[in-house]
Amino acid sequence: MKIDVPALKEGENSLELRESASSLDLGGLPGELKSDVLVTLTIHKRGDELVILGKASGVVSEECSRCLRPYDRKFSVEFEVFCDKIGAHKPRADEEQGETYVAHHDGKTLDMGPIVREAIVLSSPMQPLCREDCRGLCPVCGVNLNEQTCSCAAKQPDARWSALAKLKKEGSE
Ligand SMILES: [Zn+2]
Ligand SMILES: [Zn+2]
Repeated sequence: MKIDVPALKEGENSLELRESASSLDLGGLPGELKSDVLVTLTIHKRGDELVILGKASGVVSEECSRCLRPYDRKFSVEFEVFCDKIGAHKPRADEEQGETYVAHHDGKTLDMGPIVREAIVLSSPMQPLCREDCRGLCPVCGVNLNEQTCSCAAKQPDARWSALAKLKKEGSE
């Protein structure tokens, strides 16, 4: 996912890149890419400085944190990158503003791979859910409560409540 920097014109450039799932290494993602990643970029060039507004979209397969089943999630993430030539100006961490990512090019190429990867990884949910109201697995018998019902909840008093009841009883004695 390389950009040919000298080929960009001064001012606004529009680019569209497509990267296959296998060539975009998403090492940090707790899921798996199921499609190509389509990246659209608007690049404002001023000398060696590039301000890039991008959008990456595709499909990732994740495991639901409640029912542990894999499911596909479409994603579309936007990102903003400020890019300067190596050595021209070294921004300190505290100069980074908000969500803007800071990158460097060498005057020849800019590799968008790490930037796109980070944007996708950062946008991934901490606790993926196959659907908002996923009912998860029964903690007693393990059935998927989206597909079946079981009578465990009715039979077993919740261990936390019985512990609390015991504490209350001890406290009152
Ligand atoms: Zn689920
Ligand atoms: Zn059960």
